[in-house]
Amino acid sequence: MTILDRYVETHRGSGRLHERALRLFPNGVTHDIRHQAPFPLYVERAAGSRKWDVDGNEIIDYIMGHGALLLGHQHPAVVDAVAQQAQLGTHYGASHETEVRWGELVCKLVPSAERLRFTSSGTEATMMAVRLARAFTGREKLIRLREHFHGWSDALTGQPPPEETLPASPGIPAGMLAASIVLPANDVDVLEHTLSDEGSNVAAMIVETTGAHWGTYPLDLDYVLRARELTAASNVVLIFDEVITGFRVTPGGAQVAYNVTPDMTTMAKILGGGLPGGAVAGRAEIVDQIAIPVENTPGAVRRERIAHPGTYNAHPLSAAAGAACLELAASGVHQDRAASTAAQLARELNRALREEAVAGAVYGHSSMLHIALGMEQQPPDGYGWGWRALSVEPPRVSGTTSQALRRGMLNEGVDLMAGGLMVSSAHTDADVDRTIEAFRRTLRAMKDEALVA
Ligand code: PMP
Repeated sequence: MTILDRYVETHRGSGRLHERALRLFPNGVTHDIRHQAPFPLYVERAAGSRKWDVDGNEIIDYIMGHGALLLGHQHPAVVDAVAQQAQLGTHYGASHETEVRWGELVCKLVPSAERLRFTSSGTEATMMAVRLARAFTGREKLIRLREHFHGWSDALTGQPPPEETLPASPGIPAGMLAASIVLPANDVDVLEHTLSDEGSNVAAMIVETTGAHWGTYPLDLDYVLRARELTAASNVVLIFDEVITGFRVTPGGAQVAYNVTPDMTTMAKILGGGLPGGAVAGRAEIVDQIAIPVENTPGAVRRERIAHPGTYNAHPLSAAAGAACLELAASGVHQDRAASTAAQLARELNRALREEAVAGAVYGHSSMLHIALGMEQQPPDGYGWGWRALSVEPPRVSGTTSQALRRGMLNEGVDLMAGGLMVSSAHTDADVDRTIEAFRRTLRAMKDEALVA
């Protein structure tokens, strides 16, 4: 039986739900990444490292809420906090103590966070960061890095020439795209030249802290250090997009691991403990452009400000889940546990690739792993290259091959996140063993269909 036939056979309930969904949503899905041929998985419940689909299949989950669930599914502290808050009300249309506690935790953990505003998502956080930076500097251009992802707002979607690697989305005014300068990552000379030629027009430089696609193409620490110096010298606001890395790489994010303080940081995912939430944080003088000037105060200067409404900003349920999660994440124990499981997984997955004679490498940072089928070079320690750029870029893998890997792993009860693994502190040694076995069987099935070499 082929990988595809087996998938269809063992996921009939998902197939039936997808028929209904196709009449409603584009591709029948509610998030691009869930698009999967012939149909995606429909999940009924989840706990710890596992989830169960509508067909009763038990699955080890490495999507983990798209990276939101550092503590795993249904951590009791988070569940209790949400249940208690739900009893007290879901939306007061007013300020509340939990948002203060949540904000205090963020400022305690994240070095660059002098002030912050909560948003509903990471996209909203990066959108606001860009606006704050433009207003603060009075400049319009943004420096972005090739393939770095920052959500789907107009300002941050599409990659204009010369580094265009993704189609610029229809529906975005040309001027919006022209306001971005997209540079190759890890090229200090290009950054230096760009800032010396255009620096006085550049409001901000925004980066995915550990590299494009949560570190698939790692940023080199030397590049990050130099970017900090160069942006500071040109008065360009440096924004670390820590939507994925925040509270994961260390309790204070990648900025603590790098020992580099950006001017602004955007966060989401772990921040909300699995409920919707984001935050834009940074230097007080930048974030305070949101503050409404106090009229009639002696000496108060009338000035323009940046409005920031949002029905669900600091939603009480998200604040309760987020604060409970950050309280647990503050010690670093959960990050360390997840990272050591990831390291063990990477070494064993690399061993499986070697023993099954399939070209490829599994590598990553902290609790984020990437599977690069076809890549010849394996990480020196079986895990990662440290905070260093890759000397060999992972080859592009065909859609057919990556779909087969995902489907094959699902047939074996493992759900991968876009060719990688988001590991949580709830993953166990038993999960590692089962995952390795699943990977070996999937590689064999893929070899049988000539989908890997
Ligand atoms: N920035 C980065 C680095 C992300 O990975 C994402 C989402 N995957 C976003 C921003 C957007 O966050 P959200 O999905 O919460 O809008």
